[in-house]
Amino acid sequence: MSINEDSLPIKRRTLLKAVGFTTAAGALLRPFNALGLMRSPVTTNALRPPGAVSEKLFPSKCIRCGRCVEVCPYKCIKPLDIHQGIFAGTPVIHVVDVPCYLCMKCVEVCPTGTLIPIAQEETKMGLAVIDKHACKSWNEELALCRTCYNVCPFKDKAIKLDALRPVVMEKYCTGCGLCVHGCPVTQKNGKKAINVEPIYAFGTSRGMTENE
Ligand code: SF4
Ligand code: SF4
Ligand code: SF4
Repeated sequence: MSINEDSLPIKRRTLLKAVGFTTAAGALLRPFNALGLMRSPVTTNALRPPGAVSEKLFPSKCIRCGRCVEVCPYKCIKPLDIHQGIFAGTPVIHVVDVPCYLCMKCVEVCPTGTLIPIAQEETKMGLAVIDKHACKSWNEELALCRTCYNVCPFKDKAIKLDALRPVVMEKYCTGCGLCVHGCPVTQKNGKKAINVEPIYAFGTSRGMTENE
């Protein structure tokens, strides 16, 4: 049943409006950190396309032309919506939904150098991190899941097998997310048993989950 505000006493109406205002303001303010700066939307499994400049520069260099979004043959790049404030319109890849197949077409069309040309194997969108508590192979004695290993475009380089269990090699992992997309384990928090952390975007291990 909807509330007819006009039938309410003025104080109640004012309160409802105030609640509406604070709820809307809350929704807008949540993405801010303690310093009042908007948090980057780049986080676990939410990554910039290949060759991206650092997150510090990205929102000012990207002109939101949408060329990378349009050219991606896999439709993995999505522009961020208006709720993302200064990051609205900038491109992000949610690798759980659709990973990056490293075709490098988006890099070729970026007119501002926000995506810098880079060799496929040198791409560093992030680093895949295995959650050994959640991974079937690490956790279940008879589990033979090696999906991440099988789907990795740099199999035996970026992911190797250690006694039939997957291990990520940081030097060769591109952060493409094919392993994340293929992993059959989804945890309660929405993460997979292997996740890509955008550690290079910030120059720190922000958002890094356990691995050891
Ligand atoms: S490299 Fe290819 S698959 Fe990856 S985001 Fe760019 S256009 Fe899409
Ligand atoms: S380990 Fe995962 S993220 Fe890294 S290159 Fe292989 S499939 Fe891509
Ligand atoms: S795909 Fe997932 S569950 Fe399977 S071995 Fe890789 S991380 Fe473990």
